[in-house]
Amino acid sequence: MSDHRPAGDPAGLRARWRGRRVTVAGLGVSGVPAARALRDLGAEVTVVNDGDDERARTQAAELDGTGVTVRLGDGATLPEGTELVVTAPGWGPGKPLFAAAAEAGVPVWGDVELAWQLRGPDAAPWLVVTGTNGKTTTVRMLAAILRAAGLRTEAVGNIGVSLLDAVLPDEDGREKYDVLAVELSSYQLHWAPSPRAHSAAVLNIAPDHLDWHGSMAAYTAAKGRAYEGNTVACVYNAADKATEDLVREADVVEGCRAVGFTLGTPGPSQLGVVEGILVDRAFVENRAAQAQELAEVADVNPPAPHNIANALAAAALARAYGVPARAVRDGLRAFRPDPHRIEHVTDIAGVAYVDDSKATNTHATEASLAAYDPIVWIAGGLAKGASFDELVARSAGRLRGAVLIGRDRALIAEALARHAPHVPVVDLDRTDTGAMPAAVRAAARLAETGDTVLLAPACASMDMFVNYNKRGEAFAEAVRALAAEHA
Ligand code: ADP
Repeated sequence: MSDHRPAGDPAGLRARWRGRRVTVAGLGVSGVPAARALRDLGAEVTVVNDGDDERARTQAAELDGTGVTVRLGDGATLPEGTELVVTAPGWGPGKPLFAAAAEAGVPVWGDVELAWQLRGPDAAPWLVVTGTNGKTTTVRMLAAILRAAGLRTEAVGNIGVSLLDAVLPDEDGREKYDVLAVELSSYQLHWAPSPRAHSAAVLNIAPDHLDWHGSMAAYTAAKGRAYEGNTVACVYNAADKATEDLVREADVVEGCRAVGFTLGTPGPSQLGVVEGILVDRAFVENRAAQAQELAEVADVNPPAPHNIANALAAAALARAYGVPARAVRDGLRAFRPDPHRIEHVTDIAGVAYVDDSKATNTHATEASLAAYDPIVWIAGGLAKGASFDELVARSAGRLRGAVLIGRDRALIAEALARHAPHVPVVDLDRTDTGAMPAAVRAAARLAETGDTVLLAPACASMDMFVNYNKRGEAFAEAVRALAAEHA
């Protein structure tokens, strides 16, 4: 028996799904669990997948013997009689399968919509986090805070933990969680018209994934979906007007509040920072006159400005849910950042070496560069159509030097020549994996005591590495090798 099978049929799900013909578009992280769950409810499931390679076959094998039909190598044709398409979030709206579905009047759901529709009757409420950057960090901070308050919770969604698994009751029909910390990407939000969060935060909005969404307006609208139907709070970034505008446009339940977070002194209905203390002026009895101390800036790990903003957003969601101030502090102290997100590798000769390989776009990199001074900056890779002028112009004053690697490094070199002509640049003219030790050595030569050597590439990694993890590991390894020589 599958572990997706709820005991009995408390929500009438079996009655609703029995015999329904569902096409699951795309194998993989979300496709296989979706196919299984629907099959367990009695639906007739066909999975269609573009690829027919070894990976697809291995994933398809997971469905052997479950009664699910798998069609590899043709993700474009809508199977006869399909009543519903459940798509992997990464499938862009332009796919021919969706045109066929629209033609046939068949609705398309993403993995998040499916999870929402399959929740049990006493389902845990969702605290949603989205934004261009900082989602994973914030959702993990939020889960740590909720846990510190003694709640059963998990960080789920766009971070590898299956949302569907989290929302389905256990074997005895009981809910597994009290509340969920849900990270949602713009893709997931695009395909999820129904979810209604208890509260949601949009951390920031900067151009990203525009090729997928088609325009900045469509990307922004997808992010705004997170606020629709919220019941308690819409959390926005007071330093990012686009997020506040989205709150204003959202259709929410009466009584739902707009709550801002700011790195400055908070106004009423905001969380902010006063003299090194994170304070809450939103979830207190008298917000005109009262402020509740939550934690110290030093409790945030690492205490870089953008990360303090993430902590405030997480705190706002937790406080909206009714968590006491002490749990915010304890949760932030217990939080450990994921690897390659401004991760301090080591110091060598008074120079700090920091790995922010996850800074794969200019918005993330700008936040990263704002956290240190002076910096020897290691950057480059695949630019994904980005322009580096603003980033370099705003950060020029902090740069001791720059070391460039990767395919599109000339774009960064040109921006540096235009906006930071005083900054020495080492152009490594290499895209092989061995370039990283050379980059670290070049950076070490440029750095002076008290500086930070910061890998914050502002680019994707796939020209040189399998992914950003491997890029960060290569950096850390090169730094450790250099440290061993100095020991
Ligand atoms: P996401 O899940 O949205 O990709 P992460 O928490 O994994 O976000 O962080 C990705 C990168 O974005 C980090 O390495 C850091 O450089 C940058 N970053 C994190 N938080 C913020 C923020 N609030 N604003 C801007 N950049 C940020």
